[in-house]
Amino acid sequence: MTIYDLHCHSTASDGVLSPSELVRRASEMGVHVLALTDHDELSGQAEADAVAKEVGLRLIHGVEISVTWGNVTLHVVGLNVDPYDPVLLHGLARNRGGRTERARRIGAELARLGIVGAFEGASALAENKELISRTHFARFLIQRGVAKNMKAVFKKFLVKGKPGYVAHEWASLSEALNWIQAAGGVAVIAHPGRYQIGREKMRLLLGEFRALGGAGIEVVTGSHTPDQVPIYADLALEFDLLASIGSDFHAPGEGGRELGRLTGLPERCKPIWQAWNL
Ligand code: AMP
Ligand code: MN
Ligand code: MN
Ligand code: MN
Repeated sequence: MTIYDLHCHSTASDGVLSPSELVRRASEMGVHVLALTDHDELSGQAEADAVAKEVGLRLIHGVEISVTWGNVTLHVVGLNVDPYDPVLLHGLARNRGGRTERARRIGAELARLGIVGAFEGASALAENKELISRTHFARFLIQRGVAKNMKAVFKKFLVKGKPGYVAHEWASLSEALNWIQAAGGVAVIAHPGRYQIGREKMRLLLGEFRALGGAGIEVVTGSHTPDQVPIYADLALEFDLLASIGSDFHAPGEGGRELGRLTGLPERCKPIWQAWNL
């Protein structure tokens, strides 16, 4: 059986393993086909490629694009993209552009609560200084002893309505899809079960995504509970979307899903890799 894991992060975004370490770990975990999907960033791909060749793992070039859809932040994964495509690279650079200013504002908000030095602390934890994410703030807050783990920190801070949340305007859905398509890739809605939108709005999103040329949806992901899997399998069928699998791995021992440790897709799903020449 071929093991697929089509969503994970390296130090090029908010993961803690370098692209090399990540690919080696995936291989050790038995993954055969891995997509590295850093947030708004492709700089880890070349290093990942070299190690993938060495260990005999099939690497799919991917990216996870931050999108603003109405008042909701969404993540759209692009798979099988050309990591050197100028349209995609330019778009991603623009999406990264606002992050440092946002991070300063997050730091300023936390300082008002008496948590000083958060911007500097998060920045020090981010290897890619263009990509300071909420994950880096979360790790800083845990180190400071303000919260005990990732789950706890994102319950009290950094999310809508809580201190340290700063609204941000990312790419539009159509921009993200245009960039992915320009780079020859296919677009996949990441971890649909995580968005705080009702059933009707989810249908609206999937209809719009499909109309813009979106190809797939993550049915099996590290953030879905077992009972969410059939819900998104049904939606995939209803909207004629292909199904993807991804752990969304960020770091060993951080509470997220390990690489390659996922169930298979429900029988009725058409896998996103069905048309790939692997
Ligand atoms: P950003 O792109 O800076 O808004 O950061 C988003 C990242 O924060 C996500 O990709 C996750 O890695 C992390 N994150 C967001 N919410 C949670 C959560 N509830 N638990 C763990 N990590 C989270
Ligand atoms: Mn992340
Ligand atoms: Mn995501
Ligand atoms: Mn992710």
